[in-house]
Formats: sequence, C-alpha cells, structure tokens
Amino acid sequence: MPELVEVETIRRSLEREIVGLTLQDIDVKERVHLLKNCSLSQLKRCLTGWQLMTVMRRGKYLIFDFGRYSMILHLRMSGRLLLQPARHTRLVLDFDEKKLFFDDARRFGMLYLSESSQLEELKPLKELGIEPLSLGYTLGAFRQKLRTREEIKRSLLDQRKIAGLGNIYANEALFEARIHPKRQANSLSPQESRRLFQAIPLILGRALEAGGTSIDSYRTPQGELGRFQEDFSVYERAGRPCRRCLASVKRIAHGGRSSYFCPKCQPLGM
Ligand SMILES: [Zn+2]
Repeated sequence: MPELVEVETIRRSLEREIVGLTLQDIDVKERVHLLKNCSLSQLKRCLTGWQLMTVMRRGKYLIFDFGRYSMILHLRMSGRLLLQPARHTRLVLDFDEKKLFFDDARRFGMLYLSESSQLEELKPLKELGIEPLSLGYTLGAFRQKLRTREEIKRSLLDQRKIAGLGNIYANEALFEARIHPKRQANSLSPQESRRLFQAIPLILGRALEAGGTSIDSYRTPQGELGRFQEDFSVYERAGRPCRRCLASVKRIAHGGRSSYFCPKCQPLGM
C-alpha cells in the first residue's frame, strides 16, 4: 500500500509532468466505488476547462488544486497514477498533450470533490494528524499524540495521530529508535520518545531519496520502481540477521498486521 513516501514521490513527479496544464476532459470508468461525494457530471462541470494549479499532499491523500475546486484522491491498496494506460484504468484525466490514468486493480481507491476553500473541512482531511515532514511536527505535539495506553505501533499507524505512516515505515522507525512495537505508547521514556520522534523523518527522508518502496504494485507515474526495499532493516526480514547486532529478526502478527523487530535491539521488557 502506498504510504507517505510513495504518495510524496508521485506528487513531485506530477508537479513536473502536469501542473500548469489545462484539464480538457475527465472520464470515470468506475463510479460506484471510486466517487465518494460527487457524480461524474459534477466532476466534469467543476474541473474541466481549468488549469491544474498545484498538486499537494496531506497524509496519504493527493490534492489536485484546479483553482476554485480541488479533486482529492486516495490510492489505498493498489492504486497507481500512470502516464500510460494499464489494465485496470478507473479514471482518466485528459490534459490534451498528456493524460493521467488512475489504475486500481482492487478498487479501494477513493475520490472526493471539494471547493478549494473548504478543503480543511472535508471529512477525511479534517481528521488527519500531524505531518511528520512539516513544521508542525514538534516533539511536544508528537508526545501529546502518544498519551495513550495502546501499543506504540498502533499509535503510529493511526492517521488521526501521525498522518501518512503505514506498516513499512512504522516498523523501520521503531527499529531505528530501538523500541519494541508492542510497548505501551505512554510507557516510553523521554529519551525513547525523542529517539522515535527523530527516527520517523529520518526513515522517511531516506526512503524518499530511494524513490519509495516497490514490493507490491507501486510505480511512479513514469513506471519507475522504488528502491527502499533494498534498505529495509527489519520489514519482511524475519529470520534474517539484524543489521545492527546480527540477532535473528522476528515477526509477530498483531492488530491484523505484521510487525518486524530485532528482539535484542528492541526488547519488550524495560
Ligand atoms: Zn539487533
């Protein structure tokens, strides 16, 4: 599933490829699942004929700003934005000389239409927590989000707390900070919460440099693969030696997902 890093990589690519172009037509081939708060005719009426001013990101959402109206897209499990058509095209944005195709094999993708001035009031965006790569990401704000008895890994994945983190980068950040994924969030010492606070943007920055992670369907709009999977410390490395201490990386299932950690570097008992 594309996380913050992949969505940000796509955003940067779209900025180079299609920002400044005028939308000539829009076609939705999968209305039932994709369109969450609008019809195709509303989309056409509000967006065609307008220039794409900018593409922004909030958490894992992409926001296409056409001036008065914006189109908001969440790729969910398998969504991809490509400059070439692929097998499961659900949406086509026709910018005349260029077309952008939304390909989504599993049909979990979500599209919203909003007046640009009302974006902050749009329900899925309104509920998002702090952005780890923004100025609002401060140690104080981060610690506030961890004032809970739930497991730290679960808190990191909660989009209302930290926006954009998914399973891959949450696992890698916890390893970097040497914190067991099942630790109770409010049991972290000041040193531990500071380490985790610093580890998150560090891991995201490294992953951005590698163009994201391609272990599933993720591609950039140009069809390129990310390379961060080559740098994983723990994610999907169960049974292999820890890069730091050579102990065997463990996998546990909890909260419906897999957590990967080094039992020596990230002990549970403190
Ligand atoms: Zn280790």
